[in-house]
Amino acid sequence: MQIAFIGLGHMGGPMAANLIKAGHSLTVFDLVPASVQAAVALGATAATDARTAVAQAEVVISMLPASQHVESLYLGETALVEHIRPGSLILECSTIAPDSARKVAKAAQARGVAMLDAPVSGGTAGAAAGTLTFIVGGSASDLERARPVLDKMGKNIFHAGDSGAGQVAKICNNMLLAIHMIGTAEALNLGVAHGLDPKVLSDIMRVSSGGNWSLEKYNPWPGVMDNVPASRNYEGGFGSDLMLKDLGLALEAALATRAPTPLGAAARNLYAMHSAAGHGGADFSSVVNSLRRR
Ligand code: NAD
Repeated sequence: MQIAFIGLGHMGGPMAANLIKAGHSLTVFDLVPASVQAAVALGATAATDARTAVAQAEVVISMLPASQHVESLYLGETALVEHIRPGSLILECSTIAPDSARKVAKAAQARGVAMLDAPVSGGTAGAAAGTLTFIVGGSASDLERARPVLDKMGKNIFHAGDSGAGQVAKICNNMLLAIHMIGTAEALNLGVAHGLDPKVLSDIMRVSSGGNWSLEKYNPWPGVMDNVPASRNYEGGFGSDLMLKDLGLALEAALATRAPTPLGAAARNLYAMHSAAGHGGADFSSVVNSLRRR
């Protein structure tokens, strides 16, 4: 299958690598030439711009930072929806506002191109291992068309509902992720302040009622786990500014429905302060450093 892949960052890079490994023919584009070169080294074809990348594509995948990047790519200056072949399928995997996803899907549909919002969960490790969870919004028949491609990058594929529903579910998930990351950091910091070994405390809570993904799979305390951002100075992973963006999306969604999200709002403020202190580029588990005594 001819696939165009746009956005080869922390997530897009390894996702594209898995599609190449599975034998798909990929044409790739990113604003960062080094990221394009890394994909070319694995067998992808480099495109000089996004329009060239989609010229022959049957499936277009995008993995960009936020709503404004996605809207600008498909509807703004690049106007990619006008350059994708009718009958093709867009898999928009970035985490963006549900309304942005619906807007792009509608514009694509008007030109005979289908679009699914297909945000992911599972982090960079899941992207590398091909075990991501895809949370899909759009028509069930388009999802069936997408499945052979999504299968190569993920393990769990959920149909959340109509266009935009994948984004709503993803936003709910990430609000919860921020809350349990901060809660885990708070508990570990309290224990360490009382002289506990963070590894021993993590082992205790892991099999007790405090167990959760942040503690077990993505421990924020340096030295507790190998192969997580906390053990490499919070480099790589999921940037704090991306988490701040997702908490902003949760706040917008809460305002639109008057749903109370008191902990989501507190989490957004903590990440805003963390970002203002200069840590926006560090992995989101580095929020533990805003609690630790120096
Ligand atoms: P990233 O910043 O590492 O990658 C984004 C890439 O998009 C960059 O390489 C950038 O150069 C490229 N880009 C931006 N605008 C472009 C354009 N117009 N044309 C071509 N390329 C462009 O971000 P990431 O961590 O890979 O995250 C991507 C998305 O996935 C975000 O929406 C994020 O919220 C979501 N997400 C991230 C993680 C994670 O653990 N990192 C997990 C789940 C979901």
